[in-house]
Amino acid sequence: MSNYPTQMAAAKAGHITPEMKLVAEKEHRTPEWICERVAKGTIAIPCNINHKSISAEGIGDGLRTKINVNLGISGDAKDYDLEMDKVRMAINMGAESIMDLSNYGKTRDFRTALVNESTAMIGTVPMYDAIGYLEKDLMNITADDFLEVVEAHAKEGVDFMTIHAGINRRAVEAFRRAGRRMNIVSRGGSLLFAWMMMTDNENPFFEHYDKVLEILRAYDCTISIGDALRPGCIDDSSDAAQLSELIEIGHLTKRAWEADVQVLVEGPGHMAMNEIAANMAIEKRLCHGAPFYVLGPLVTDIAPGYDHITSAIGGAIAAQNGANFLCYVTPAEHLRLPDLDDVREGIVASKIAAHAADIALNLPGARDRDNAMGDARHALNWPRMFKLALDPEKAQRYYESTPIAERHTCSMCGKMCAVRTTNRILNGQDVSFVTEIESC
Ligand code: SF4
Repeated sequence: MSNYPTQMAAAKAGHITPEMKLVAEKEHRTPEWICERVAKGTIAIPCNINHKSISAEGIGDGLRTKINVNLGISGDAKDYDLEMDKVRMAINMGAESIMDLSNYGKTRDFRTALVNESTAMIGTVPMYDAIGYLEKDLMNITADDFLEVVEAHAKEGVDFMTIHAGINRRAVEAFRRAGRRMNIVSRGGSLLFAWMMMTDNENPFFEHYDKVLEILRAYDCTISIGDALRPGCIDDSSDAAQLSELIEIGHLTKRAWEADVQVLVEGPGHMAMNEIAANMAIEKRLCHGAPFYVLGPLVTDIAPGYDHITSAIGGAIAAQNGANFLCYVTPAEHLRLPDLDDVREGIVASKIAAHAADIALNLPGARDRDNAMGDARHALNWPRMFKLALDPEKAQRYYESTPIAERHTCSMCGKMCAVRTTNRILNGQDVSFVTEIESC
């Protein structure tokens, strides 16, 4: 790709990069098929030129749904080793992306370690880091300061960056008129809103968008256009504030593509199930088919402690209807920074949602693992079942936790195992529940 600054620039020239070839291999597609869609922007391959350890992944229509794991240091939870343990677990469990949301202390050291070690793509939100990085209070930060943080992250090898460029004065006006129940729940969005109101300036990422794109282009860092006005409760979803920002994001998407910068568009949030499909269609329409990255959507607001489930339900519906990238949600959402167990639960829930959607979309190879699991269950081959499970350790632990009298079955039906009974009859053997049967 050396003659082309970005994957998109290469694709527009019809040049197939090694990253496009790798994505094609992973997705059972041809490199030409991938290249054509990267050129249009409907597939992004976030892959910073300085992230040398990455195994590139594509995000977009016609590809497997990807998942992202959020982690990072905060003022209340600053155990760097624990966060690196979460990184390793996320990669081992098949997360394609990790967002470092650190907003405290030595963020650069942690980010550098992450970029050096991670085969998954890395995302950040420079807005979170701005206060710590610049060691200035929010009100004293200038537009140039914000751009300096963007450039620092890009230079360090971050593959995609959430930049809330869509919450401009027009969107703020729509937000004020909307009279929301939960106002702004995006951390970066709320900081920008506060900065705009306190300094009486336009959103610096909107006002200096060309400069932002110039920085991102230099490192082939993908812009993930943040949804500062995403709904924070189901009563705020699909309102004028959310949609006004999305209209702005649609314009910004086109401008990024004109500069050969790849784009992801971020989306809701909290949303009732019946609104999800329409929201996905509207995003694809207003943002010209750009890959859609959703947090949730959480389909009800009343399940703190179980929000990995509320978001997996919404994520599966979203992915079946156009979302391409799911941000995981853990049981700790709304309550605390997740621990290792929370991260594991969140990843599995999100993987289930993504995979269920891929099956429904009939993507190439999507059913292969399920079919292999069906075969393993038919053969009552427990080691194979554990190997195929999304969480092998939990599957094996559960199986072994209840002693079983009949070694070929599990403790749910024991000797009356339907699979064993049918297998025996189809093999021409008798079934007896009184006499011990030794083999399956
Ligand atoms: S015992 Fe019942 S649950 Fe267990 S494998 Fe056999 S049929 Fe399935």
